[in-house]
Amino acid sequence: MPSYEDLEAKIIDTGECTVCGACILACPSFHIKFVEGKPKRTKRTMDCVGCSICYEACYMLRHDLMKAIEGSTIGWGKKERIGLYRRAVTARTKDTEIERTCQNGGIVTTLLLYALDSGVIDGALVVGRDGWAPIACIARTRDEIIQAAGTKYGVVPVLKALRAAVVDRGLSKICVVGSPCHIQSIRYLKHKGLPLASPVKLTVGLFCRENYEYAGIAEKVRAKGVDINQVDKLDISDEFNIYAGGKKLSLPITEVKSCVPRHCLVCRDFAVDLADIAIGSDGSAEGWSTVIIRTEAGEKVFAGMEEKKLIETKAIGHIFDIKEIAGRKEEKGKQTKEIFRLKKAGLEKKEIAAKLGITEERVSHRLDGI
Ligand SMILES: Cc1cc2nc3c(=O)[nH]c(=O)nc-3n(C[C@H](O)[C@H](O)[C@H](O)COP(=O)(O)OP(=O)(O)OC[C@H]3O[C@@H](n4cnc5c(N)ncnc54)[C@H](O)[C@@H]3O)c2cc1C
Ligand code: SF4
Ligand code: SF4
Ligand code: SF4
Repeated sequence: MPSYEDLEAKIIDTGECTVCGACILACPSFHIKFVEGKPKRTKRTMDCVGCSICYEACYMLRHDLMKAIEGSTIGWGKKERIGLYRRAVTARTKDTEIERTCQNGGIVTTLLLYALDSGVIDGALVVGRDGWAPIACIARTRDEIIQAAGTKYGVVPVLKALRAAVVDRGLSKICVVGSPCHIQSIRYLKHKGLPLASPVKLTVGLFCRENYEYAGIAEKVRAKGVDINQVDKLDISDEFNIYAGGKKLSLPITEVKSCVPRHCLVCRDFAVDLADIAIGSDGSAEGWSTVIIRTEAGEKVFAGMEEKKLIETKAIGHIFDIKEIAGRKEEKGKQTKEIFRLKKAGLEKKEIAAKLGITEERVSHRLDGI
């Protein structure tokens, strides 16, 4: 029977782990902790009997199932680059308190508040912060949901908070907010029938080109003479933007490329193909969000917000841009996986570049982050 050691050898130590938090959540004896950016069973204890629950909880070991999971949750139709969907719009909140703290159009926060007020959910897994370091949190009130608004860059095991949400707080209708990797993982856990996953009733995904190691980002901010604790907002899209003291400092995106974790380099999901609703800024004007509604559950909650006039919506003008970004991420993910495979087979950078018809500089960038 596979055990924690197998999970460590195949996923955690190889850099494939996306730090979704599912193995931490699943271990019935609380042996796995989030240590130095990774899930780790710090020492072998008598209680760790190699039950294989942590191994079974890892979606990264079951890529073969993801197609079927997508079919049974989202649909079986012909898939576009941004996944299957019912409709896509551009939208922004009408709540001025949310407008002040949110990242883009404030749709995630408005949606969570509406879902809570209307009884669709009784709590949510969100990402709060300690300084700007992201932390997995449970939100059950308006204040807790608003406090979690805004994007924090850094790997964060969102699903680790699910056990406390269900067992300690007694929540039974939970929304998970997360990156594509978090949403893939929770869909997998529900498919596997993990009892702790069954209270998850709604999934809200955030578009994602890539993530960054928090320590690296904090260091880049410091190097520009800005105190990370004085930062009001960080935003990374085509540029790395630091907002502090009413000023905006924009740096080329290449400045933060060395902070991208290995698992993000091979990731192919941009538009959160498995979420009930996927939300991002690409494809919309500043201060607005692009919203892709994929399921009946997603449609119900979004239409409820529209009916209550909590948000303003418009037809989306730039869906092509999002498809292009999603396509580029898919190609880059495939290519990087091949680079890693050839490197493991013993090829030099020059040989890999020649084999794949790309520059040696690109190979170095993917292998070394520089
Ligand atoms: C790592 C990362 C990369 C992203 N990359 C892109 C991109 O390339 N293109 C794009 O269009 N959009 C991207 N986004 C999404 C974008 O930054 C906004 O989250 C999205 O537009 C929603 O804006 P909003 O105003 O509706 O959210 P808000 O109302 O401000 O709510 C934000 C929600 O995001 C959650 N959250 C914050 N940080 C994290 C985190 N690290 N992990 C999981 N959940 C988190 C919070 O719990 C909160 O509920 C990215 C988000 C993250 C976290
Ligand atoms: S007790 Fe089971 S789930 Fe926990 S670490 Fe050991 S093998 Fe994994
Ligand atoms: S379950 Fe998630 S956190 Fe655990 S090893 Fe797999 S990818 Fe990493
Ligand atoms: S790039 Fe992929 S693995 Fe990395 S945070 Fe985004 S969804 Fe997760």
